Amino acid sequence: LIIPDWGTFTQTIGEIFDVVRPERGGNVATYIPQLARCDPNYWAVAVCTIDGQRKSWGDANVPFCLQSVSKPFTYALCHEELGPEKLHSFVGQEPSGRLFNEICLDHSKKPHNPLINAGAIMCAALMKKDAQLADRFDFALRSFRRFAGNGFVGFNNSVFLSERDTADRNYALSYYMREHKCFPENTKFQDTMDLYFQLCSIEANVDSLAVMAATLANGGVNPLNGERIINNRACRDTLSLMYSCGMYDYSGMFAFKNGLPAKSGVSGDMIIVIPNVMGICIYSPRLDTLGNSVRGVLFADEFINRFNFHNYDSL
Ligand code: GLU
Repeated sequence: LIIPDWGTFTQTIGEIFDVVRPERGGNVATYIPQLARCDPNYWAVAVCTIDGQRKSWGDANVPFCLQSVSKPFTYALCHEELGPEKLHSFVGQEPSGRLFNEICLDHSKKPHNPLINAGAIMCAALMKKDAQLADRFDFALRSFRRFAGNGFVGFNNSVFLSERDTADRNYALSYYMREHKCFPENTKFQDTMDLYFQLCSIEANVDSLAVMAATLANGGVNPLNGERIINNRACRDTLSLMYSCGMYDYSGMFAFKNGLPAKSGVSGDMIIVIPNVMGICIYSPRLDTLGNSVRGVLFADEFINRFNFHNYDSL
């Protein structure tokens, strides 16, 4: 087994969980009522190793919408479908150095990367692009469930409706991309927007999302049932982007301090991938000013202080 002394290992994670719990800094997202109303005290962590050892702490059954944590999985599925050359003719690989929803494109008039809004909207435009919207959504939901090995993956329709109603910036981004002819031919504009909002509104809990993260840690093979969900290269590219672009404008600092690929979302969810070891999922809705879960970032700090999982530890 990848973690021989599972008891001591999980006991230490439990200690970190308790050390981080009293942190009350930050605020829940308020741009839609469904997030504004959410209990700020929720606190949950789950881990799943590449050989399927699992454990969770706290509010592990509370569902939350994935928000931006959907982006690496959407990218991975597009990569599997289109391959890296075709996919990256529409979206770059560079950290933008700008806000996640800023209206800007890179020097070749592409969205900077698939983990900021513009790039994720581009992936929504590309995913099964010639199919009907209903079938495209079904494909996404089914694929997310496969990442989770049939753990809980749902859909929050109120979040979807609110997202769509509060989306001036995302529409502005898309019109700007359309002006610059960024989208593939025959892109259906409203379908693309709806699919993007729907992807943000897919739900999981820390248990199921830790398995999704563990599938990335395991090179694209679900650790619970051995099913291959995406190819190795798609998985590698997803992790590379998470490493450089996954934590909003804290991505450089997170990579520096923790040396691990991660992704966070405005609902307060966050995944960390330890390649060839395990996936971690954290849920705590209070966000810092950059949009990352306050306890999530703190948990990562404590975690890397106690274990040598930093990419450049033990050299
Ligand atoms: N629904 C949010 C948006 O598109 C997602 C943002 C996020 O989690 O970063 O603005």
